[in-house]
Amino acid sequence: MNITTEFLDKHNVSGPRYTSYPPANFFHTKFTSKDYIEQLIASNDQQPENISLYIHIPFCPQRCHFCGCNTETGQKKSVLERYIQAVKQEIRNVSSHLNVTTRKVTQIHWGGGTPNAIAMHYIEDIMNLIKERFIIDPHAEIAIECSPAYLEFAHIDQMAAMGFNRMSLGIQDFREDVLKVVNRQAPKHPVKEIVDYLRSKGFSGINLDFIYGLPLQTLESVSDTIAKAIEIKPDRIVTFSYAHVPWVKEEQLKLEKIGLPQPKDKMQMLIQNIKQLQDAGYVAIGIDHFAHPDDQLTKAFMSNRLHRNFQGYCTLETTGQVYAFGSSSISQLWGAYAQNHKNINNYMDAIASTGFAIERGYTMTLGQQVVRSVINSIMCNGLLLFEEIAAQFAMSVAEIKEIVQYDASKLADFEKDNLISISAEGIKISNSGRMIARNIAMAFDPDLKQGDTIYSKTV
Ligand code: SF4
Repeated sequence: MNITTEFLDKHNVSGPRYTSYPPANFFHTKFTSKDYIEQLIASNDQQPENISLYIHIPFCPQRCHFCGCNTETGQKKSVLERYIQAVKQEIRNVSSHLNVTTRKVTQIHWGGGTPNAIAMHYIEDIMNLIKERFIIDPHAEIAIECSPAYLEFAHIDQMAAMGFNRMSLGIQDFREDVLKVVNRQAPKHPVKEIVDYLRSKGFSGINLDFIYGLPLQTLESVSDTIAKAIEIKPDRIVTFSYAHVPWVKEEQLKLEKIGLPQPKDKMQMLIQNIKQLQDAGYVAIGIDHFAHPDDQLTKAFMSNRLHRNFQGYCTLETTGQVYAFGSSSISQLWGAYAQNHKNINNYMDAIASTGFAIERGYTMTLGQQVVRSVINSIMCNGLLLFEEIAAQFAMSVAEIKEIVQYDASKLADFEKDNLISISAEGIKISNSGRMIARNIAMAFDPDLKQGDTIYSKTV
């Protein structure tokens, strides 16, 4: 894979991230809890039959200055306890509309915030309720995002006993001076010891997250950090590009005052990360996601069974329709998206008064469901077979092409640069083309307006 600055420059345009299609900016407040309940009931007869659960914990002991999430610090114990009760109530209410006797849970994901910074008994309390209300598939992936700053080995024992078998650790950088200027605590224990301990307890798919583009980072220091990560041998490594949006998150101005790497330096960091990780044998799943060849994600990618939701990449086998709980969380059903109130007080009040807390959402048309399948296929598996999509929707290939407004001339530039190959069956994306899968997917998005600049850059 030959990725150069010129290559990234050429393809660095504004575009949706396609963690969902249509993107979250389509969600609107006319979609209410009543619509959500209708969609919950409908989802019992839709695909996939499997159930994925997402639990959102919007609390952190302190706020990282680069953070773009909805999270709160310094919450009182009484607020946390009320929040846990609200999440439990929401689980009871949602599950009462689902066919939980035949549909199995194949994926549970805890995200935040910092889920492991709350006392383990709260996590156990919610997990016990989930086990009481749902049938958990014996091969379910049960994952939690953790900050190593608050992670004890005893917590891992407790989580393993609760059934957790996947963990994602937010490292961001191994340099303590970088962590200090971004207001983040360093890991409490050596990360290698944590990863080894997780393996000894049966965890797999262990992921380490990093960010490049932070103050004090240089090409050399990022390279050292990635080299250290490779030595630890996690199953997955993600290297996020820091998104500087101080007009949305004012806290980020603090980083600007210290000084941020220039865009051209960030591109060099990305190119270097890709090379280093590939030289070490990791497979590029997406522009910033890498997995070991033995990892389930790599195997799914190799067999065109990779999928993606708001929680990240996953396999088609374990992903179900996503039912999300907690403030700001987004449910991803076959027919609709539904997002809860972002403000935790509004969320808890809504659950207390009506049992549901939908702030906005979106009901998809059949055409949009088709486009979603096409875009997922491109983004996750680097492949689009028109016959396959047509069979999925019991439509003709001509109908599918009409829905996505297929126009080969929109792809001519990609083909000329050997980023895709076009045949009568569809398109196949090359290794280099995978780095700009977002750009290629945009050619199949009929809702995208020319020159749309509300989105972040694709590289
Ligand atoms: S730990 Fe994560 S969610 Fe919390 S402030 Fe830092 S980046 Fe944001």
